[in-house]
Amino acid sequence: MNEPGAESARVFRFAPSPNGFLHLGHAYSALFNRKLARACGATLLVRIEDIDPERSSRLHEDALIEDLDWLGFAWSGTPRRQSEHMAAYRAALENLADRGLVYPCFCSRGEIAKSCSARADWLRDPDGAFLYPATCRELTGAQSKARIEEGARFSWRLEMAKALRDIGAPLSYREFHESDSNRIVAAEPSVWGDALIGRRDMPASYHLACVLDDHAQGVTDVVRGADLEPATGLHRMLQALLGLRSPSYHHHRLVLDDEGRKLSKSKSSPSLRDLRRQGFSAADIRAELSRRMQIEL
Ligand code: GLU
Repeated sequence: MNEPGAESARVFRFAPSPNGFLHLGHAYSALFNRKLARACGATLLVRIEDIDPERSSRLHEDALIEDLDWLGFAWSGTPRRQSEHMAAYRAALENLADRGLVYPCFCSRGEIAKSCSARADWLRDPDGAFLYPATCRELTGAQSKARIEEGARFSWRLEMAKALRDIGAPLSYREFHESDSNRIVAAEPSVWGDALIGRRDMPASYHLACVLDDHAQGVTDVVRGADLEPATGLHRMLQALLGLRSPSYHHHRLVLDDEGRKLSKSKSSPSLRDLRRQGFSAADIRAELSRRMQIEL
């Protein structure tokens, strides 16, 4: 139980990526956040995760804001846009680089896939990408510097083994209590291998930006889909490395289509705007999701 008066200090957020139109899965996540936030008098925020310039668009951003408004999401303040916070991401990357915990990686995704797919049993990360074979970890500082001076493009990777060794934080970051249940969940960062922390075109990846923004927005409760549960291990590790307080985590069930598959923006799941055009109201969407998920939203 919260202390009286401490309740209003809780902050929840919904953090969509503007790379497609919102569908029922997003609506559930948003409304479930709203339900939990309302139950404890918390603040509800929106964050636009537009860290990927190739896939993000203003059209989708405007549409998702309009859809959330239509749905009655009722957030506070102005949505935070990740693309406006590069300096903060760069500073965190520099901090990790100064401590020797990240290294520049010159391999393209295609090169990594080519070298790993030749080996039948090469492990993949929870997103299904090949674990990075750490080719560039072997480069000396002078070799990397020379390649950067030649103008080679590079991303930043966390040196996982070193980070695990040097973390200097209590091991408790490697498990967390799923809020709203009694489940203790293992939060194992090493399943990501030498994770990508800074993109070629941005001084952060989703993982780093998400952790820094949750901190900057004062988020106390991260409520997101079960598909992101493996990411929480890496997020908690980054929080421990950067000395940031870890929020509570709750990973909710996903809304599935009739064949039991996760809804997706790229596959043909009807968007909220399609449903709206077909004449459904926000109350209809809420009622349908409450019925499907067996929870009053
Ligand atoms: N931007 C992510 C998505 O749209 C959500 C990230 C998060 O909630 O941490 O799937």
